[in-house]
Amino acid sequence: MTAPANVKPPTVVKSEAEWRAQLTPAQYYVTREHGTEPPFSGPYWNEKALGTYTCVCCGEPLFSSETKFNSGTGWPSYYAPIADEAISEYSDRSLFMRRTEVRCAKCDAHLGHVFPDDPRPTGLRYCINGHALRFSPKKAG
Ligand SMILES: [Zn+2]
Repeated sequence: MTAPANVKPPTVVKSEAEWRAQLTPAQYYVTREHGTEPPFSGPYWNEKALGTYTCVCCGEPLFSSETKFNSGTGWPSYYAPIADEAISEYSDRSLFMRRTEVRCAKCDAHLGHVFPDDPRPTGLRYCINGHALRFSPKKAG
């Protein structure tokens, strides 16, 4: 898979062994092996608290509870990333489908896919694996 011209190379680069040591098997499978967790199996698909979702690999803020919605799919879903430059998007032709893959721009972690089929403000549905994320609840006050 070649990166589109507008995608910058990741700045956090670690070896397979380093990622394995840092991540749980489920986190490693999703983020470094481009896996997909079964629906309703990962964390956060039903999380409703206010806060920020960061990359489980490098800690970069990726999504906010403000754009999270219940898509009914069993995966955390958002209609926009926290910042355009926080994620990189790749054309994904695996499984005989044309999809757009979403990765963390900083460390190249696979996050999930974005689909242009949602009626919310942006028309986009970022369908993200919960195992690729870490939730930081908003502090009171
Ligand atoms: Zn990352």
